[in-house]
Amino acid sequence: MSGADGTKTQRRCHHCGRELAETMHTRSTYRVDYYGLHTGDVEPTTLARSDDPTDLMTVMRLVRAVEVFTCVDCYRRPSVRRERELLFRTELQAAPDEEAAL
Ligand SMILES: [Zn+2]
Repeated sequence: MSGADGTKTQRRCHHCGRELAETMHTRSTYRVDYYGLHTGDVEPTTLARSDDPTDLMTVMRLVRAVEVFTCVDCYRRPSVRRERELLFRTELQAAPDEEAAL
């Protein structure tokens, strides 16, 4: 990642906006400061499962990848857990109208 304004880009928590530290490793342990979630916008796509044209399955195809970072403090909050769940399972949400959020 690089910032358009030329400054060093720092990962920030998606929920509270605080800067995130990289995972700290020591000789015997490590400390995690944030959790990353790889998700994105998906659309249903029908695939043929075999040569039988009636044997179809629907899968969710990733159309736009999104990375969401959550600091350890926010991660403990139930509302944040729910928000992450919705981000990860976008089929639980109403479909967004257009690409208005971009
Ligand atoms: Zn946070």
